[in-house]
Amino acid sequence: MTTPQDIIRSDILSMKGYPVADATGFVKLDAMENPFTLPEPLAAQLGERLAGVALNRYPAPRPAQLIERIKQVMGVPAGCDVLLGNGSDEIISMVAVACAKPGAKLLAPTPGFVMYQLSAKLAHLEFVGVPLRADMTLDTDAMLAAIAEHRPSIIYLAYPNNPTGTLYDDADMERIIHAARSSLVVIDEAYQPFAQKSWIARASEFDNVVVMRTVSKLGLAGIRLGYLVGAPAWLEEFDKVRPPYNVNVLTQAAAEFMLEHVDVLDAQAAQLREARAQLAQAVAALPGAWVFPSAGNFLLVRVPDADAAFETLLSARVLTKNVSKMHPLLANCLRLTVGAPDENAQMLAALKLALK
Ligand SMILES: *Cc1c(COP(=O)(O)O)cnc(C)c1O
Repeated sequence: MTTPQDIIRSDILSMKGYPVADATGFVKLDAMENPFTLPEPLAAQLGERLAGVALNRYPAPRPAQLIERIKQVMGVPAGCDVLLGNGSDEIISMVAVACAKPGAKLLAPTPGFVMYQLSAKLAHLEFVGVPLRADMTLDTDAMLAAIAEHRPSIIYLAYPNNPTGTLYDDADMERIIHAARSSLVVIDEAYQPFAQKSWIARASEFDNVVVMRTVSKLGLAGIRLGYLVGAPAWLEEFDKVRPPYNVNVLTQAAAEFMLEHVDVLDAQAAQLREARAQLAQAVAALPGAWVFPSAGNFLLVRVPDADAAFETLLSARVLTKNVSKMHPLLANCLRLTVGAPDENAQMLAALKLALK
């Protein structure tokens, strides 16, 4: 009798699946979702658009109209192409698989986005984590030393970083890009709507840089659409790893529709940036709380006892992310997503209780 234990890779057997908390009945401030829904007339129009989609047909593998719209709306420079993924998570995994030569390494600052490390593990790349400084800024000298020592195939720089919210210094980024002559540098701009800074216009300036974006944090996490911007020479290779019909017809149609109405999402992002500033100020005023500067739609907050604070928030039906065990630099840290005004108020009230 064959069992999974006989067949499945031992490193997979010893893994746990990606944890997603059940948020039923909670104010959901754990996953950087946009809290706002679409205005009713727009939702109805979207429904009509989706009703016209041919569900019996396979999706276009490279939907020209959607890609054109992305190029135009997101300011993709001439000479750069766009590769679509089923969320940027799929792109991260495609990049790892395509680069997984024997002995190849993937380097990223830590703490960082967990999918970089997971993609390396699944594709058998060695992961090299370079700790940030205690204030969560980039330790550029340590990065340069690690790049020289490990000569990684892939370097991820999240701009801004998750879970810290840090927007790395542009000059530091540039030093790393120049030093990483034998690496591909992937700049992950998942939080661009909240950072309002981007490397996309410079994507064609360096032959070792690609820029990754997603519509998830902009308010479309449910449709799963990420994209990679870069020189065709890179994207053509990653495209060979892409599952042929990875972006489904409903996602393609919904994305195209929403990009025609991107002003609605942009206005929601502006509202969240405003709320982020207010929330940061209010949380920072609580006794014992330290708020790290954030360019995302979330705040990293250090408190005296993160486990206790997290539990108090849960009792108040507010779900946040306790990141305190993820990395030593995150000791006693919670990550709070910026939500709608009433959600932020409920979280703040619970946090006040926790810290008094
Ligand atoms: C949320 C997030 C993503 C988005 O992944 P999707 O699969 O597109 O939802 C990518 N990078 C970072 C750093 C993130 O925090």
